[in-house]
Amino acid sequence: MANREHTRCLIIGSGPAGYTAAIYAGRANLHPTVYCGLQSGGQLTQTTMVDNFPGYPQGVDGNQMMQDLRSQAERFDADVRDGIIVRADFSKAPYLLTTDRGDEIEADTVIIATGASAKYLGLDDEKKYNGLGVSACATCDGFFYRKKTVAVVGGGDTACEEADYLSHLCNKVYMIVRKPYLRASEAMKRRVENNAKIEILYEHNTVGLYGEGGVEGAHVVKRKGEPDEQRYDLPIDGFFLAIGHKPNTDVFREWLDLDEAGYIQTVNGTPRTKIPGVFAAGDCADPVYRQAIVAAGSGCMAALEAERYLSAEGK
Ligand code: NDP
Repeated sequence: MANREHTRCLIIGSGPAGYTAAIYAGRANLHPTVYCGLQSGGQLTQTTMVDNFPGYPQGVDGNQMMQDLRSQAERFDADVRDGIIVRADFSKAPYLLTTDRGDEIEADTVIIATGASAKYLGLDDEKKYNGLGVSACATCDGFFYRKKTVAVVGGGDTACEEADYLSHLCNKVYMIVRKPYLRASEAMKRRVENNAKIEILYEHNTVGLYGEGGVEGAHVVKRKGEPDEQRYDLPIDGFFLAIGHKPNTDVFREWLDLDEAGYIQTVNGTPRTKIPGVFAAGDCADPVYRQAIVAAGSGCMAALEAERYLSAEGK
């Protein structure tokens, strides 16, 4: 039987934004309910060390950090649950959200902190070989490719970081970059360019993958569409995507303003959306910075806004 319950503050997502919102909302006595979403703990659980979060001079393991944030939120009475919000109805307050189990939650305020997920190229072969050589997370899956040859797709900071990480495990790492240059920061560019195990294939696109039962190589095209276009097969054991992320906002599309890429648009400098009492924090609303510390900060802002909204509404 599906349940219906009421909460003063529903937080959707369990990354740095969601948990920080939960800590602040909990301390404000809002007894927040947190739905963790598909990837409990968010993107930082897919990484190894987080070196740039202030307060950890030696860095911190991403999973550990998320567990600590969860414990801290629970200490302030946040009700943290596994589960996904699959439907939203923001037509009137209290807002109605439905979970993947069919349970319904009436919420006076909603903090959306659903983050973003890795993008894929859109090749059928990515689906065919998913888990059989295709991955969007080097730090999760790199271990399986020790002493092997892999390719990382993309030319941004993520791709460089993943290529560098894989170069410590694998014999050879190709970077497949569609432009004649890397988009990454200077420091990351230097790191991959000076790494003898990394070979950067500029102006290359992947058009397919091949292999019996698992990835054995990629069909690539150099200078696609140009008179000197070259097509060839690149033997690899693993194919890692690092071409950016897509915000997890489809559930809210009907109700909120999203930009072209799907990021929730908020009132300048605040986590307020166009629906009173509905706030957005973290990567789902941040196409620019996409950093854990920024997400945590915006989660804090969203919780403060929720508290003020409830108090103004006398709820
Ligand atoms: P970016 O959007 O910066 O880079 C994506 C890369 O993937 C680009 O090289 C892009 O190519 C390429 N790409 C996109 N779509 C395709 C496609 N369909 N086929 C082939 N290539 C494609 O994403 P990142 O995830 O690298 O970084 C996101 C943000 O996070 C950035 O602001 C970055 O600086 C930051 N970041 C910072 C880190 C750090 O400071 N340690 C670590 C990781 C990320 P093109 O250039 O042609 O568009």
